Amino acid sequence: MSKVHNLIIIGSGPAGLTAGLYAARAELEPLIIGGLEAGGQLMLTTEVENFPGYESILGPELIDKITNHAKKFGTELIRENVTKVDFSSQPLKVWAGDQEYHSKSVIIATGASARWLGLDSETRLRGKGVSSCATCDGFFFKDKDIAVVGGGDSALEEATFLTKFASKVSVIVRRDELRASKPLQKRAQENPKIEFVWNSEVQEVLGDSKVEGVRLKNNKTEAESDLKLDGLFVAIGHTPNTGIFEGQIDLDEKGYIKPVKNTAASVSGIFVAGDVEDIRYRQAITAAGSGCKAALDAEKWLAEQGNA
Ligand code: NAP
Repeated sequence: MSKVHNLIIIGSGPAGLTAGLYAARAELEPLIIGGLEAGGQLMLTTEVENFPGYESILGPELIDKITNHAKKFGTELIRENVTKVDFSSQPLKVWAGDQEYHSKSVIIATGASARWLGLDSETRLRGKGVSSCATCDGFFFKDKDIAVVGGGDSALEEATFLTKFASKVSVIVRRDELRASKPLQKRAQENPKIEFVWNSEVQEVLGDSKVEGVRLKNNKTEAESDLKLDGLFVAIGHTPNTGIFEGQIDLDEKGYIKPVKNTAASVSGIFVAGDVEDIRYRQAITAAGSGCKAALDAEKWLAEQGNA
């Protein structure tokens, strides 16, 4: 049988990396299976201004620092996507790349991914003016008119960032109020390049080979109108990355993993950290904090089994 690890951590955002850091310092020799696009959502973020100790740092740079910190204490990180798990018996089994890994305990820190509107035209024009990542694609819209869909923190943060490039940013909001926090609302409302389009839903993204606009429906008046645009950024929340865990551990009705006690999931030896279990706070610092808690819980659980 292949080597049985003490702890495998699935995911390499702030939750997984912090879990790795703590577990490595506890000499558990953790293995992080970090995904082909390691680093999680911070890799798609520009400035982070609310991670204690950093007044301003770029998301990818922060991930780099936490990764190096975790590695310094001996965390091993491999960049493969986990494709399958079997948690039905010990040792727990995890498949990634062409390898099968065995472990006594697992921390799931797979995070969440951006949601899409679900329109055929949106799918067709993805990468041709439709995007969910302002950091990645904003640069391509210098002096163009663009729109952001959504009224939460992500939408306003992206809209504000995009004003660096675009001549105008319309924020399309399905209600007549925003969900975003007050400081982000204030910053967006004071930005002369940002305009709000209230009570409106995107019916269709217009354009054959690239985005030329959107067809909007006002959900109060039912009136339809076209808005000319060069780009559309969708920022309407996230879905937890739990597809591979269906049938293996208990998920809630939205697909999030709900810990049964502290960070422990419904199967003994499985712990959970970060946005994959957090629909409410979803901050880099809360993810890091829960990674710490999951590592401490895994360490205690392993000690109780008498085999760490
Ligand atoms: P969110 O808070 O869930 O907001 C999603 C927004 O999209 C809401 O305005 C929602 O409208 C709208 N929406 C959802 N489905 C839609 C649809 N089908 N069509 C049109 N609009 C739709 O998601 P988020 O903005 O990604 O934020 C997620 C979490 O991350 C939050 O806890 C947030 O505080 C945090 N976050 C924090 C920061 C920061 O602190 N700097 C930055 C980004 C994110 P309704 O309001 O009508 O539901």
